[in-house]
Amino acid sequence: MTEASTISSRLALMRERIRDVALSAGRDPAAIQLLPVSKTFGEAAIREAVAAGVRRLGENKAQEIRSKYEPLSDCGIDWVMIGHLQTNKAKDIARMASEIQSLDRMDLAIALDRRLQQEGRGMDALVQVKTSIEPSKYGLPPEELPGFLRRVARETPSLRIRGLMTLAINAPDRDAVRACFRTLRELRDRVRQEGIDNIELERLSMGMSGDFEIAIEEGSTEVRIGTAIFGGRIYGDAYYWPEDQVRGQTPNGV
Ligand SMILES: *Cc1c(COP(=O)(O)O)cnc(C)c1O
Repeated sequence: MTEASTISSRLALMRERIRDVALSAGRDPAAIQLLPVSKTFGEAAIREAVAAGVRRLGENKAQEIRSKYEPLSDCGIDWVMIGHLQTNKAKDIARMASEIQSLDRMDLAIALDRRLQQEGRGMDALVQVKTSIEPSKYGLPPEELPGFLRRVARETPSLRIRGLMTLAINAPDRDAVRACFRTLRELRDRVRQEGIDNIELERLSMGMSGDFEIAIEEGSTEVRIGTAIFGGRIYGDAYYWPEDQVRGQTPNGV
């Protein structure tokens, strides 16, 4: 089997698995989107995914979106920012990304809004919420969400908040993982009941290759899948979650 057919067959398999889990959970499979995550993978792999019907791709570093944007501009890809974003990179994301799922603080919202106004466009955004007790994960503390949403609605009109995103705890304890997803859904339900003007929170981005089944059972509307589609990454998540501060390495083919 070639590398190429591997990606398209893994995509097909993943779509099937999402469908099966949704049906077993009594949910409509059409209510769950698949966001393939192409971080560390280069042009050839991404073109293969595009050939298999992918039009939206998640990346977790602004630099990586910037390096892929031009070479793949003929593919019509919507780049989705899912990783920690430094305020000084807001400009690249405002220009090149279709959406951000890792909005986690007001100074970033303000920087993005300013750049988006310069670009003359708006952008869909999900608020990343910290649902795990792990010290290394980014995200807004849940108790700060209502106040944050009110400020965004008032002060940064270029950002259209569509929902919430989270990363579950990275641990073998399935109950602990489930608790993270449940926290996000219940938080969404509470804030919805409170009602914040112009904010619906219809989307919940949660679930990755190792935990998407649990996320779907807990109400995910979008799973972000890297490894199960593109294969293993040369460098582990220690490289890709920037708080680990590993520098000077080059990801696969980028
Ligand atoms: C890498 C990444 C994913 C996908 O992870 P896999 O385990 O490879 O499926 C999802 N979300 C975020 C924020 C990521 O950085």
